[in-house]
Amino acid sequence: MTDNRYDVIIIGTGAGGGTLAYHLAPSGKRILILERGDYVPREKANWDPQLVNVDAHYNAKESWLDKDGKDLHPHTNYYVGGNTKFYGAALFRLRKEDFGELRHHGGISPAWPISYDDLEPYYTQAENLYQVHGNRGEDPTEPPSNSPYPWPAVSHEPRIQQLSDDFARSGLKPFHVPVGVMLDERNPHKSRCIRCNTCDGFACLVGAKSDAQVVCIDEAIKYPNVTLLTNSLVERLETDSSGREVKSVVVERNSRLETYSADVIVVSCGAINSAALLLRSANDKHPRGLANNSDIVGRHYMGHTNSVMMAISKCPNPTIFQKTLGVNDFYFGSKDFEYPMGHISFVGKLDAITLKAGAPAIAPNFTLDLMAKHSLDFWLTSEDLPDPNNRVTIGRDGKIVLTYTPNNLEAHERLQGKLKQAMKQTNCSMHGHECHQGLFGRNLYVGQRIPLAGVAHQNGTIRFGHDPKTSVLDVNCKAHDIDNLYVVDGSFFPSSAAVNPALTIMANAMRVGDHLMKRLGVSATKLEQPVLAQA
Ligand SMILES: Cc1cc2nc3c(=O)[nH]c(=O)nc-3n(C[C@H](O)[C@H](O)[C@H](O)COP(=O)(O)OP(=O)(O)OC[C@H]3O[C@@H](n4cnc5c(N)ncnc54)[C@H](O)[C@@H]3O)c2cc1C
Ligand code: SF4
Repeated sequence: MTDNRYDVIIIGTGAGGGTLAYHLAPSGKRILILERGDYVPREKANWDPQLVNVDAHYNAKESWLDKDGKDLHPHTNYYVGGNTKFYGAALFRLRKEDFGELRHHGGISPAWPISYDDLEPYYTQAENLYQVHGNRGEDPTEPPSNSPYPWPAVSHEPRIQQLSDDFARSGLKPFHVPVGVMLDERNPHKSRCIRCNTCDGFACLVGAKSDAQVVCIDEAIKYPNVTLLTNSLVERLETDSSGREVKSVVVERNSRLETYSADVIVVSCGAINSAALLLRSANDKHPRGLANNSDIVGRHYMGHTNSVMMAISKCPNPTIFQKTLGVNDFYFGSKDFEYPMGHISFVGKLDAITLKAGAPAIAPNFTLDLMAKHSLDFWLTSEDLPDPNNRVTIGRDGKIVLTYTPNNLEAHERLQGKLKQAMKQTNCSMHGHECHQGLFGRNLYVGQRIPLAGVAHQNGTIRFGHDPKTSVLDVNCKAHDIDNLYVVDGSFFPSSAAVNPALTIMANAMRVGDHLMKRLGVSATKLEQPVLAQA
């Protein structure tokens, strides 16, 4: 055995790779984690809206191509912890029904090869690990669970509580969004999280967001059998002559190429980069890309149909941490629209600087500052359906090409209509129904919807399933075509559902982790106790 030989190599440290590393660390197996990025530097810039939202200071410094060959600057982040460093930490389970086939206005959302019950114990583990704060029983679409959330829900601030009361009076069932922040409202002096206004989209300067670096990687590398190499970009995977086994991982590190090998290789680079890595790794035995006999690798890209909708009220909205309220009453449809519409919640409180980035040409008589002080900033998510023509390919100069035509848009428009209607029904004690002068959509870039570059919820490009002709991975997320290759990021989703994806990626990584422990002959009694992160 050389120094470059391991039992397991995990590529990527985000929601999937980070969680798997944490799960496997106590096994005693030699684990190498390869991450193309570095740690997010701890600096005041972490919480600077101009640098983060306008100057894209922490975004990946590379360009991809869209289907017309135009440069695409992806809003994605290459750091230890992956995109969870910047996420809003809204940690939802998919709905039980999302695992079955669902008929949408725009077509069929296919069934998963596992059921909600298969993933349920891992959702509970992931909620505990990521210290999710929530209240069971409020969300009308919530799937069944035997355990409470490990922490009480993050409370609404007064303006959001008022909105929640208004919604409830009008017959909706608003609920507290489950969030992974290390906030202890009962002991504020001890709380690691200080409940600030720069959380969603920002890295946490005080390390109080439950991200994959703080919660998983920092803990995993305390084990002597776990090694993390940062600034290590995996260029390609090479197979043995049979094509059935990945025999080496080729890494660019310190401007040199190095190779590593392991019994088990786990790819977790995010749905777009993982597909790109497999496609880049084509060889004689895998001419269409690694593990791509099915020609499915890179196809069925999904990223949700998302939009930010601002409701400008006469009442100010001085909320600091806004991402506490959700509405799922229209998730599966309504009396007047029998198809699923999606999920309504909030983004972090928008400010004038961030609004400037989108330059909304709206609301006459309002300055951006006034708008920001009076806006409720909703986040709407609808399911996009898996279309084989929405795909990741490799284009000129080896650049990633993202081809995407939106679908199922009627559902999103209906959801926007439902929110507008719900807002009209609110009845402010000072301004009555007139409190909301109007509702309009904006996003940080152009138009109403989050554009293609907004790849935050990327998934689906290396789907799992029973049939090797229609899927790349089997139910354990092992490639059908290769005996030692696994994928545990958001690529495996056969459908995108309409809630945020990270908790499902984390839970699935733990499920695959249990399978890998069996494969590697690790019995539960041999596990060292993992070191839990403290709130
Ligand atoms: C601003 C923002 C807000 C979000 N808010 C939420 C939210 O509130 N709730 C939610 O559920 N989700 C949210 N998301 C989405 C969530 O962050 C992702 O779903 C999740 O991080 C995806 O996990 P992953 O493991 O698939 O990939 P990632 O977390 O993206 O991790 C992939 C890792 O692989 C590394 N990598 C890539 N290519 C290579 C390579 N070739 N070699 C080595 N390393 C490589 C990357 O640097 C990265 O660290 C948000 C995302 C963003 C950007
Ligand atoms: S202190 Fe709390 S609210 Fe602020 S960024 Fe950190 S986790 Fe988020």
